[in-house]
Amino acid sequence: MKRFNLIATLMALLMTVTALAGELTYSPGESRFAIETLPAAKAVKLRIYAEGTGGKPLKTVNLKSSPTTGGNLLWEGAIKGDLKGKFYTFDVKYGKSFRGETPGVFATAVGVNGRRGAIIDMRDTDPTDWGTDVRPDIAPKDLILYELHHRDFSIDASSGLKYPGKFLALSEPRAIAHLKALGINAVHMLPSFDYASVDETRLQDNKYNWGYDPLNYNVPEGGYSTDPYDPIARVREFKQMVRALHAAGIKVVLDVVYNHTYSVDGSPFQLTMPDEYYRLNADGSYSNGSGCGNETASDHEVMRRFMVESVKYWANEYHIDGFRFDLMGIHDIETMNAIRTELSAIDPQIYIYGEGWAAGTCAYPADRLAMKSAINRMPGIAAFSDDIRDALRGPFSDDSKPAFLAGIKGHEQSIMFGIAGGVRHPQVNINAVNYSDHFWCNEPTQFISYVSCHDDMCLVDRLKASIPGLTTDELIRLNLLAQTAVFTSQGVPFMLSGEEMLRDKKGVHNSFESPDSINHLDWTNLERYPQVMAYYSGLIDIRKSHPAFHMGSAELVRRNLEFLPTQDCLVAFHLKSGLRLQGVDESWGDIYVALNANKQARTITVPEGEYTVVVRNIAACERGIAVINGGTVTVPAQSALIFHN
Ligand code: CA
Repeated sequence: MKRFNLIATLMALLMTVTALAGELTYSPGESRFAIETLPAAKAVKLRIYAEGTGGKPLKTVNLKSSPTTGGNLLWEGAIKGDLKGKFYTFDVKYGKSFRGETPGVFATAVGVNGRRGAIIDMRDTDPTDWGTDVRPDIAPKDLILYELHHRDFSIDASSGLKYPGKFLALSEPRAIAHLKALGINAVHMLPSFDYASVDETRLQDNKYNWGYDPLNYNVPEGGYSTDPYDPIARVREFKQMVRALHAAGIKVVLDVVYNHTYSVDGSPFQLTMPDEYYRLNADGSYSNGSGCGNETASDHEVMRRFMVESVKYWANEYHIDGFRFDLMGIHDIETMNAIRTELSAIDPQIYIYGEGWAAGTCAYPADRLAMKSAINRMPGIAAFSDDIRDALRGPFSDDSKPAFLAGIKGHEQSIMFGIAGGVRHPQVNINAVNYSDHFWCNEPTQFISYVSCHDDMCLVDRLKASIPGLTTDELIRLNLLAQTAVFTSQGVPFMLSGEEMLRDKKGVHNSFESPDSINHLDWTNLERYPQVMAYYSGLIDIRKSHPAFHMGSAELVRRNLEFLPTQDCLVAFHLKSGLRLQGVDESWGDIYVALNANKQARTITVPEGEYTVVVRNIAACERGIAVINGGTVTVPAQSALIFHN
């Protein structure tokens, strides 16, 4: 466990009070305001309001400018007296007109719907025990990521949670007991910053959205707080959630969406520095690598600085443990490496990963973008492996097309690539891997192993859509087989929340704004399919208890992971005994894992001797479920077999 060093934290906070992160500096005696603009700006008006929305300004002040070292203008002003509880906006003039009111680009508290900044004392947002909050000590190689959406997880009455759809749900004992029983140790939260697509004044409408439409990057979303009108509530409740998860030994990872904004017109970026935060095409139109109408320009100094300061702010103020970059392939490599360096200075364990692709063509040289294929050039940064995902379930482009899980041969090498965590391995033929032409990971901790996430169909729907006539028994067997590949990969395993409850989304491929009836978890499934949760927790327990499954080093993987002869739709491997002599605290000897997607049983051959079976059919238990002899060993149909001596 790491104690926060108070002085170091204070120093870090002071260091971040630069032009972007220091738009408001509150004290009871005065409030200071500052905003950075392009040199062409003619004037900046600051308005103070009594409310977060509506009403006339209490005061309007013209800020004064001075040049920044970078050649921009910094507009500053101070108002005497205690403004706590008031709200503010900036309004920047270019040419003859003011561009419109904005809370600035770096508001850290806002009123309802994020239209005005809020003047608060950040220390008023700290829960009483915040001073004792510590980040759980979990190395990247030991992480088990659980991706959730606040509303999916807790909105249904079957969850039994008192704060359905709110940050606070994750602070409740029942929620934490479930996560602990499952065994995951990091919660990856879908966008939790202030986003635009849910009207916070109409929460009674129960509108759903994933939240990939950023408004204020450095403020928690109001719709997940108990009172979006109270600027303190969302900040404090977010911290209460972090505090409770940390106390339970669970890390908190934020899904960050710096690659685009909800819109260009009216975005705080655009109102402050027109076009400076975005990439433009040669014809002056906005490049659209995000598929959402625009793409930001991390290669521009101000956007790079914004991203660095934003992640540092979340790490320092909210004690965040990791960041998942949406469409990371839109950002440039240099920016991602700068973020790695800055976050390592706060805590080297802060985990960084992202989608190593874009959703369209970017207006930037492809070889300088933070794509999956460039992960080798970004030490300490990981990417999702669509290789193992699609080798298991089938291609993202066609929900009806099956792969390994359906008993279709030809995907074995892609799965072996995934089992080895994307690092160079003498038995993996890279030419036979579906989407990769080189081993893109230097270390297995750069590889996110998964079969489903919020995007595309969840696992149950995908299996049903791609394998006609699937029985419930087969559905469960294949679901468990899929996750066994994920959880025995040397990469970092990642699962979508609710898979342990055999969730489905009624076949909806893209549920970003589907109602709760599609997206919610049905907790009664825990009683309906107890064998599923039991297997997931047993499997995760096996992984966590045995470092052989997450050696954490490419060299160890190459030396100690050996694949057995490949058969059609069967991948088997041996984790060799002797890890102890190489500094790995492994209590088991030889470990064998076989993944059989065939509709018939198959056999593998292992050395003679007595072995303890820990996974077979739909059972997984670290203490063992049977004893078998070596030689020719039968692997039951459509399931995994794991045994050790
Ligand atoms: Ca919002």
